[in-house]
Amino acid sequence: MSAATETNAADPLDGLKVAFTVDDQFQWTGIPFPAGYGPARIAKAMIGAFAEHSVPGVYAFNSTAPADDHPEYLDVLDDWMAAGHYVGNHTHQHISLNWLDVDTYLRDVEASEKILRRWIDASPSRYFRYSFGMEGDQVEKTVQVQTHLTKTGFLSNPVTCWFYDAQFMAAYHRAIALNDREAMAKVEDLLVETAIDQIRRQATAARTAIGRIPPQLLLIHGTAVAGATIERVCGELLRHGIEFITSEEAMADPANVIGAPYTTRQFRNMTQKWAEYEGFSIDDMPPAVLADVERIAMIEGESFDEVLGRAIQEWATRVDFVPVPADFH
Ligand SMILES: [Zn+2]
Repeated sequence: MSAATETNAADPLDGLKVAFTVDDQFQWTGIPFPAGYGPARIAKAMIGAFAEHSVPGVYAFNSTAPADDHPEYLDVLDDWMAAGHYVGNHTHQHISLNWLDVDTYLRDVEASEKILRRWIDASPSRYFRYSFGMEGDQVEKTVQVQTHLTKTGFLSNPVTCWFYDAQFMAAYHRAIALNDREAMAKVEDLLVETAIDQIRRQATAARTAIGRIPPQLLLIHGTAVAGATIERVCGELLRHGIEFITSEEAMADPANVIGAPYTTRQFRNMTQKWAEYEGFSIDDMPPAVLADVERIAMIEGESFDEVLGRAIQEWATRVDFVPVPADFH
């Protein structure tokens, strides 16, 4: 068998089942949308792309604190659900469970549930997604949160596959601020390329770690750059043979329902947790391209790390906690 044939035959994207999910359509407090952008515009682009590419029933996991100052953001959920998509719970303030005690974290879960109840109740499944995908730095905390979720009828919907699209946000915002169309196009192109490469390497890692490739729960965020590229991302995924499925179908697989038997405080998706449980880490996660992205449309103090770092400091004025930046390594 030639190397080329072997590569083609082994491409895990061919026939890969993927449930799309969208996080943080309201972004986060302390990280405003660029001028001219907002949840309505970005959701409209996503609804259009999902319809065109037959992507079924996409759950949106939005932290709700940004809607305190912008109650109109919530209106987007009516359009979202009218288009056949759904809503889950992603905490109110988007603080990692690592940085909070369980009671404070659960109050944040309940605060969001109150705001989103009518949309969650109208969705076929009650899904919860941990903020930053962080399930707690100690297994006992995870168990306590899971117990609360079970009592309140929620199931954790884990991210098994991501391509660091949020990390492209700061560069895109800089390019918009500078009105640099060429830079915007460059960020968009790199994001689409990175999406395919990351999904392929994570599916490959799942096959190595689990022995098979479970249906994937894929994450994209409600950012301006995601809205600008969603059409291309969906098209490229289909071109590579991916089959879009519902979250319910993905969540019928024990690898997704039960998850990896692995506790870490680090920023890892479920496939990375499976890999680390099996004793390996996945190459190029996070991808080296993020350093190139940071050199596009540079503005002093506006790197992704600086933007996120300032936002988390702002959250700490609302809820008493000490962030641990090293958790993102
Ligand atoms: Zn999130």
